[in-house]
Formats: sequence, C-alpha cells, structure tokens
Amino acid sequence: MRFDVVTIFPGMFGPVFQQGVVGRAIERGLIQLAAHDLRQYTHDRHRQVDDMPFGGGPGMVMKPEPVIEAVETLRANNPGPVVLMEPWGERLNQELASELAGQPGLIVVCGRYEGIDDRVRTALQAREISIGDYVLSGGEIPAMVLVDAVARLVPGVVGDPESLAQDSFADEMTGWPQFTRPADYRGMTVPDVLLSGDHARIKQWRRQQAAQRRVSHPGVKKT
Ligand code: SAH
Repeated sequence: MRFDVVTIFPGMFGPVFQQGVVGRAIERGLIQLAAHDLRQYTHDRHRQVDDMPFGGGPGMVMKPEPVIEAVETLRANNPGPVVLMEPWGERLNQELASELAGQPGLIVVCGRYEGIDDRVRTALQAREISIGDYVLSGGEIPAMVLVDAVARLVPGVVGDPESLAQDSFADEMTGWPQFTRPADYRGMTVPDVLLSGDHARIKQWRRQQAAQRRVSHPGVKKT
C-alpha cells in the first residue's frame, strides 16, 4: 500500500516512521510512504501556500492551486482515495482504518493555518477525516495517526495476525489488561489466574475484564 502525504513540513514524517512496526514494513517494501513538500507545487518566487480569507477574519487559508496540483501529480502513481485531514471530518475509528487498509493507497493532505480552501474538497472529491473533536495546529500529526492506524492493518505489517485479532475494537472480546515479568513488582502482583496455566479460565477472566472496560469506555465496540 502506498501513502503519499502532502504537507508544508515533510521533514516531520521521516523520524516518526523510521522506527517500529511501520518502519520495518517500509524496509520490507510492504508499504511505501512519501511526504511531499507542498511548496514544490507553487509557481511564485515566494512559494506561497496561503492567502487571506475572502470575507475577512483572522489568519490565513491554504490556497487551492498548490494542493490540487500536488494531488493531480501524485495520482499518477497512487490510485487511492484523497483524504483531507480536517477537525470537522468523519471521525477516525478502527472500522474506518480497516476500510482504508483495503485500498491500494492513500493521498493525505495536511492542512495548516485556518484550513484549506473549500474548493479543494469538491474538486478532488476528497474524504475529510478528523482524529477527534479538538483542534491541532496542523494536519501532520493527524496524518501520522491515520497512516499508522491504517498501515498496521495492511496484511503482513504486524507479524502475528493474532495480535491484530486481539486488539481493542477488533471485536467484542478485546482490550484486557496485560502483564509481564516480574510477577511481583513492589508488592503489586499479577492476577493468579494468569499464572495458573489454565487456558479456559484465563480466557474467561480476560473476557470479564474486557467487558468491564467496555462499561467504563463506551467508545469500545459492544457485543
Ligand atoms: N480554524 C480551523 C482549524 C484549523 S487547524 C477550524 O476551526 O476548523 C489547521 C489544520 O490542522 C486543519 O486544516 C487540519 O488539517 C489540521 N487539524 C487540526 N485539528 C485536527 C483534527 N482534530 N483532525 C484532523 N486534522 C486536524
């Protein structure tokens, strides 16, 4: 799967995706990730990507031409849908991430300033995605969240498929508390059942614990 990100800060992406599961997937060629400098698609001497809002008001708005030209160029190598990161967009959740993981690629546009000229959305038939009801200063961190959530669902990226199956939100019986050694840390002990070797009991305990978490976190998928 191919991810092309359009941003005024392409340098932010390298360090984040060099490490860990996604970094290894890039090395192994399972996914491709490229961050493209929006300013490459300007034609003026100052490489300006923003301008004053029509109708007045504070701040600046991202100009339509560079974004549209960038996406048009990237489309030649990326057949996936275009996503604009926007706080009012469709809320990202595990279901949306797995739907997007079925695409051959994604072209992700990061906004800055007061947002992106609205004609970009209509001209590119883009999908707007939000990572939550709060406002960040730019779309780069949201784009990283989206890329990470989608990339780890691409087959092979996470080595053991069992690990995805037991993730929170994957199904109703998920998100139980996890423990590793030492079994006693400063008097805080691991629940006996996990040391019992009785797999049926362990499974039952995990199911109960996951159900309790669903009560306190209503966002988790219900049975
Ligand atoms: N004034 C705008 C906020 C712009 S924030 C408004 O109230 O909607 C600048 C950019 O940051 C946005 O264009 C978007 O790309 C990104 N951004 C901020 N918060 C976001 C969120 N919760 N989800 C996705 N993108 C976000």
